[in-house]
Amino acid sequence: MTTASSADWWARAACSGKDSNRWFAMGTPSPTVLDTCRGCPVRAECLHDSLTNETPNGIWGGLTPMQRRQIPALPRLPRAEAIGLLRTLLTRLDTELAERTSPMAQPVPTTPDDAPLKAVPTPAPVVLPVDKLLDWGDSHVDPDVQAQAARARAALTGLRNRYASDLELNQITDEEEKLAARLTELRTRKAELLPAKAKTKSKRTPSDYPAAEVRAWAKTNGHEVSPTGRVPKAVVDAWRSATGQTGAGDS
Ligand code: SF4
Repeated sequence: MTTASSADWWARAACSGKDSNRWFAMGTPSPTVLDTCRGCPVRAECLHDSLTNETPNGIWGGLTPMQRRQIPALPRLPRAEAIGLLRTLLTRLDTELAERTSPMAQPVPTTPDDAPLKAVPTPAPVVLPVDKLLDWGDSHVDPDVQAQAARARAALTGLRNRYASDLELNQITDEEEKLAARLTELRTRKAELLPAKAKTKSKRTPSDYPAAEVRAWAKTNGHEVSPTGRVPKAVVDAWRSATGQTGAGDS
């Protein structure tokens, strides 16, 4: 049951030194074989190498060929990480099988090949940091994956640039609003400190009569008027009566 890649873990295999024919027997696997695998310290390594080598026959990692085919394809990972994933999967699988075979559970077929795993646990998704994922894509042998990585890298660069621009714009807007508020405060305070402006003199309303003409008429007609200033209203009225002139306020 060894392969070139299994040399490092084979020495610790629980089946080492046992009759390997029992692991490759046709039909129902022996419960002893399955128990041996479940207690094997290198079960995940054994399963990993059988999946990697696509070993078609025999019990590997305590799983039959049919059960192994139900395991989703492993993501491209370093060997140690892939084995870790499989170890998690096997633990969950054991738990599920224990629940199915407990007295409280429904009877299950006793032949593993006849008892397909109803729900083989999917390995926990591997979330790589973006940079690592891009590096992985860059170095992939598949040109399509390389191209995907290049597109993703360009899109990320665009996003990062846009993020930086938006951030700076927001900072500028905040600064503008603060400066505008401060300017308003300063102008208000400046207005408070400036001396009050002199009241604007009220505009003199222009006379609605020809003063020089009225004075000349008054002098001729025995009215006394000052040579400067406003002509008394009575004199103006008399002038209007005598000359037939009308003022701005007359209708
Ligand atoms: S998991 Fe089973 S087949 Fe694999 S090395 Fe251990 S005992 Fe052997």
